[in-house]
Amino acid sequence: MLTSSQPLVVEIFASLRVRYANLNRHYEAAWTESWCHRRCEHFHETLIDAAKCAEKQGQPGWYCFAVEFDQPRQLNPQEEWDVHEFKFGPKAHQEPSLFREDTNGNE
Ligand SMILES: [Zn+2]
Repeated sequence: MLTSSQPLVVEIFASLRVRYANLNRHYEAAWTESWCHRRCEHFHETLIDAAKCAEKQGQPGWYCFAVEFDQPRQLNPQEEWDVHEFKFGPKAHQEPSLFREDTNGNE
């Protein structure tokens, strides 16, 4: 009888993890420096706060990632979109040279 309830307990915990993931999530900034992967190790509540932190590090090629239940997670497409918009502005999504490194130099 106890063994038959174990799958239910596992299912309940899996459900709770999904349901309350946002309560156990924070974002961090990351970058590569001298061939080493670095992360800010802050607990940013929002993705944009992490992006601002990443920008302050002054390292090109910075990125952000999520941490849920102490496990790093790649950003989902919406989160990637938000970071891209933060980096390049709201109109960056419409430009064909979306992910090219070159910039026009005009500010
Ligand atoms: Zn940070």
